[in-house]
Amino acid sequence: MRVYNFSAGPSMLPEAVLEQARDEMLDYHGCGMSVMEMSHRSKQFIEIAERTEANLRDLLGISSDYHCLFLQGGATGQFAAIPMNLLGDKRSTCYVLTGSWSKKAASEAKAFSNVKIAASSEEEHFTTIPDPSGWQVDSGAAYLHYTSNETIHGVEFPFVPETSLPLVADMSSNILSRPVDVGRFGLIYAGAQKNMGPAGITVVIVRKDLLQTPLLGTPSVLDYKKQAEAGSMLNTPPTYNWYLLGLVLEWVRSQGRIQGIEKRNREKSELLYSAIDASDFYRNPVDRRYRSRMNIPFTLANPELDSQFLGQAQEAGLTNLKGHRSVGGMRASIYNAMPLQGVQALVEFMKEFERRYG
Ligand SMILES: *Cc1c(COP(=O)(O)O)cnc(C)c1O
Repeated sequence: MRVYNFSAGPSMLPEAVLEQARDEMLDYHGCGMSVMEMSHRSKQFIEIAERTEANLRDLLGISSDYHCLFLQGGATGQFAAIPMNLLGDKRSTCYVLTGSWSKKAASEAKAFSNVKIAASSEEEHFTTIPDPSGWQVDSGAAYLHYTSNETIHGVEFPFVPETSLPLVADMSSNILSRPVDVGRFGLIYAGAQKNMGPAGITVVIVRKDLLQTPLLGTPSVLDYKKQAEAGSMLNTPPTYNWYLLGLVLEWVRSQGRIQGIEKRNREKSELLYSAIDASDFYRNPVDRRYRSRMNIPFTLANPELDSQFLGQAQEAGLTNLKGHRSVGGMRASIYNAMPLQGVQALVEFMKEFERRYG
């Protein structure tokens, strides 16, 4: 039996995608082998790679001013690759800190640049977004970086920051969940394992004119220019993950594209937040204006009940609800692939648990 998996990542994939992958596992479209066994230079695989990129460009409206790269090393690899590729003859980079992930990104960039912090909500325990009117953006920095959805703290930007610097966004945990105007960004990156596929492949969308000569010593696999020239195949790419990412994009199309997905995401998150807000037993600490539609942390009024909550949820087929160790409590990650029924089942379970223990 399949469970409703609320994991923050790797996370649920659409059942239709897993079924198609199963059906094509041993013999992909009559070629007598699995996609896993194909040469990345083969006609079949090149076709898969090209279709995946075309679908990504189409769904997100990515113009030919941008490269789409399919890389390894996760979003964490890009924390280093971004300053290495975009710094050029500048010395500083600028970061907005709204949670653990933006903090990690800034910390990694320190090895390569003078990192300026434009604003931070750390004193508010990362439960809000600092008012952009007060951000101190270094106009000499190579770019301004922010994390559009903080996966651990459950804080999401409902707006795109205005800036004269190239804007860089870590969209690992909310890409494809709502429409985005790519033209406003210099670079968007996302690890696949939240909203796009399995772990092991990372998408980088970068405006071509921003690519500088990378810092001396930049490994070829992290060199965006070289990867772009090689069609992201400078070395063997994660072929099977690329294929699965392609299946997820086709699934997004079948769901009414990003508009259809967004509508369901709004419905799912509103259902869970209203259940939390309607009760004194559950609580979400995030500034209401900036609550994430993807990751919803919540605490129980009595934390001594946490392990019972988790154990009984697990028995009810609702798994991976434990909050991140740095925040505690619970966290429900409800990415694109989580069906509305999963959130309904969680809300019913929460009501019943409160009736018994509240
Ligand atoms: C998960 C996550 C990361 C880290 O991704 P890796 O693929 O493990 O490197 C970075 N940023 C955000 C916002 C994430 O959700």
